[in-house]
Amino acid sequence: MTKEIYDYEVRCMTCHKKFKTQLFESHEKNLWLVDKKDWYCETCKTEYFEKQTSKLAKSHAKIGFPALIGTPKRVSWAEKIRAELINKVSFLKKSLVFNDDKEKKISDLAFNLFLQEWQKKIEAKWWIDNRKITVRDISDRIKKLAGSLD
Ligand SMILES: [Zn+2]
Repeated sequence: MTKEIYDYEVRCMTCHKKFKTQLFESHEKNLWLVDKKDWYCETCKTEYFEKQTSKLAKSHAKIGFPALIGTPKRVSWAEKIRAELINKVSFLKKSLVFNDDKEKKISDLAFNLFLQEWQKKIEAKWWIDNRKITVRDISDRIKKLAGSLD
């Protein structure tokens, strides 16, 4: 079965300019999409991603994470990954229970050392390559760091 491809004219939600887009569903479904979906032209899309990226970069700078190096597209993606991974660290930290103050102190130090390692990763590529890091991976590394402190 071959699918027909139609060009549809849609209007950008941000700048209200009309632009053409290709849709791949049935003509009826396409008309519904043209009407119901929020459309954004390429220029506004790029602007939106740049804004999102700089917002993330700013909040990361506050917690000691430097600006990333790479093409704008990569940096934009890497900032999102970095935000998710930092969230995983916070999640892990919150989930820990300690027997005593000494244990907590060592753990806090290990978390700091761990974050310092990440703060040195300034290539967008590193974050993209490591986007699959799990809470378990983070936990293993922090345990190792804590072990070296004990
Ligand atoms: Zn627009």
